[in-house]
Amino acid sequence: MNSTGVQLRSVEKNFGAVKVIKGVDMDVQRGKFAVFVGPSGCGKSTLLRMIAGLEETSGGSIHIGDRDVTDADPADRGVAMVFQSYALYPHLTVFENMAFSLRLAKRPKAEVKQKVQEAAAILQLTDHLDKKPSHLSGGQRQRVAIGRAIVRAPEVFLFDEPLSNLDAELRVQMRLELARLHQKLGATMIYVTHDQVEAMTLADTIFVLQGGHVQQSGAPLDLYDDPSNRFVAGFIGSPS
Ligand code: ADP
Ligand code: MG
Repeated sequence: MNSTGVQLRSVEKNFGAVKVIKGVDMDVQRGKFAVFVGPSGCGKSTLLRMIAGLEETSGGSIHIGDRDVTDADPADRGVAMVFQSYALYPHLTVFENMAFSLRLAKRPKAEVKQKVQEAAAILQLTDHLDKKPSHLSGGQRQRVAIGRAIVRAPEVFLFDEPLSNLDAELRVQMRLELARLHQKLGATMIYVTHDQVEAMTLADTIFVLQGGHVQQSGAPLDLYDDPSNRFVAGFIGSPS
């Protein structure tokens, strides 16, 4: 079994004449927590969406595990994405929100129930399964969104600024829960944030994106100690 979680080679993305991603190489080992950081508009979401298959690449290749998924259907990639805006169905209960993709895939009823209950237990949502999203707190809604990803048992979790709508206290709590979740599930996780503390505490590897390229990548403390340019230094907050 190879140890590739997600591998990008010369990945490009143009929107019309605008080159947003100009050749990105990236290796995320299986089971690791990778964090993409970079200024607003640098293409973090676009890169994540290309890995998810929600956006076509303009060039290059994407591998997940040992499979070339560059042109694969989103449903066949073994990925699940968690969005900033939760994207819950307001008219469905917590249980039905989490069960949705499994029902769509026509999984047996007993399996659906078991997977939703397992995810709910991990996320402390067991007592809330019959509620509608409007009756939940922001943190609980974000947990439901994560639960919708967990039930699919993906190889790779993709998070696009999942905590940015939460208040500071809840962000700290959810950050700890995400770290715990990563340990428990052992899945590969790719996480976009512009929060420096989130990046430093969650990441095995940080990828700094700017100008359509990866400016630098490495372990948080290596970037902190030895930033390759002013942008990286400014973001990671090295004193020199
Ligand atoms: P980030 O997530 O880092 O803030 P995005 O990936 O959302 O950045 O966007 C990168 C750039 O691509 C921005 O300039 C944005 O306006 C542009 N962009 C994103 N999606 C589209 C699209 N569907 N059509 C045209 N331009 C887009
Ligand atoms: Mg974005």
